[in-house]
Amino acid sequence: MRVPLTTRDFIDRAELVYGDRVGIVDEPNQPASPLGELTYREVARRARAIAAGLDALGVGEGERVAVISHNSARLLELLYAVPSYGRVLVPVNFRLSSTEFNYIVEHSGASVLLVDPEVEAQVAGISVPHRFLLGEEYESGLLRFDAEPRPWSEPDEDATATINYTSGTTARPKGVQMTHRNEWINATTFGMHMQVSDRDVYMHTLPMFHCNGWGLPYTSAGLGVKQVPIRKIDGAEILRRVEQHGVTLMAGAPAVWNSVLDAAAEWDGPVPGRDQVRIVVAGAPPPSRTIARVEEELGWEFNQIYGLTETAPFITINRPRAEYDHLTPLDRAKALSRAGAPALGTRISTSDSGEVLAQGNTVLASYWENPEATADALDGGWFHTGDGGTIDDEGYLTISDRKKDVIITGGENVSSIEVEDAVFSHPAVAEVAVIGIPDDKWGELVTALVVLAEGASVTEAEIIAHVRTTLAGYKAPKRVEFREAIPRTATGKIQKFKLREAFWTTDRQVN
Ligand code: AMP
Repeated sequence: MRVPLTTRDFIDRAELVYGDRVGIVDEPNQPASPLGELTYREVARRARAIAAGLDALGVGEGERVAVISHNSARLLELLYAVPSYGRVLVPVNFRLSSTEFNYIVEHSGASVLLVDPEVEAQVAGISVPHRFLLGEEYESGLLRFDAEPRPWSEPDEDATATINYTSGTTARPKGVQMTHRNEWINATTFGMHMQVSDRDVYMHTLPMFHCNGWGLPYTSAGLGVKQVPIRKIDGAEILRRVEQHGVTLMAGAPAVWNSVLDAAAEWDGPVPGRDQVRIVVAGAPPPSRTIARVEEELGWEFNQIYGLTETAPFITINRPRAEYDHLTPLDRAKALSRAGAPALGTRISTSDSGEVLAQGNTVLASYWENPEATADALDGGWFHTGDGGTIDDEGYLTISDRKKDVIITGGENVSSIEVEDAVFSHPAVAEVAVIGIPDDKWGELVTALVVLAEGASVTEAEIIAHVRTTLAGYKAPKRVEFREAIPRTATGKIQKFKLREAFWTTDRQVN
């Protein structure tokens, strides 16, 4: 028998088996009225009401519904409501600029736009057939509790469930098409490797727009895990909520855990969740010192995964295995600093140039309306990650550099080319190269090296302000250095590797 693997399976099981259990505790501090505690029965009922509302608007199967929101119960329920009835959810990074929102909504061809009140002003100019502010307008204008939704006519595991726009090697973000099958395999293998169970409480310290919260909303629903969205990342608030909700599982980039470590140093009394909490870290290679501190100062279990938006994201995992139990803290941290061994059903390899390649059921189907980028990424039957790495005798991958011209700051990707375009559009700039330089807090800092046009003058602050008019604040350079010239190869290419060298003291060039 073959039954299509669709995202609906997760919420259906949550409702059937864990209907009475609190499924989501909404963020209390948000501009929309919070939904409080929702049982999984209520979450499923609301998901059906959303689908019925979309039916009433005439939004058909395969149509895109874009949402721009901080973490909240309403964003979470859309991950269940929209794909389960054959439509496609497009969760958008809420930190982007108006220009970027406009591009994504237009490029995805969304017929519905849902927005958090905090970004309302930035999307005012976008033309889209239907839009609702998350909150009262969405509750009374979209949700239809008086009608049953039309079931998906032909559930298909190869249909697109979500499109996540990600900044990569091109000047414009690319839309990563995730199929139901991608999401299903990611959610179940991730849950299996992390031994997620119905005794877990999962807090969303990861922005849910980012790769659908790494697919953990599906894992959590399928296993009846209580979910706690958190809107703003703040170390002390994370500790308070771990205590308040009995959180046992969280995921995030190294910068999140640095903020928790800082807050724990000031925390009055024992750190909440000691010997209870497991964290999953990815997005950048965590320094072994951070790993040792998480285990010693917080008493939380450290796990690392590696992956990309294009891989749903699950490719490799490094869990503290039994063999690590008797290692010294330093050796244990070293073992855990590797990105990990391939997840069940995934294969990894490296190309002649050292690029990490992957094959598996979590790898994207294609980039939305971008066949060239798809062909490049999947060339030769392997997914090309753009990361440089090595695989050791135990099958563990270590990421050592980045082949693609991408900077990762605070866990979010920034395309160097996109920032270069924005800096270059300033009339005083003759040449520019944007690189990442190491930073303790953010991992990497976006840094622009600028050659001025003859006779022109401009300050660092003016360049930064100029970039911020078109790009999200976190993409703007944190530092601008003025140079006489930018060295190039004989063929006129800028060698980023050489430019970065001056700033990096370690043997790797990712942080
Ligand atoms: P994104 O698609 O935004 O999730 O970013 C994916 C990128 O994050 C990868 O291509 C890597 O460059 C980086 N990354 C993710 N996980 C790790 C990890 N465990 N170690 C090093 N880099 C990572």
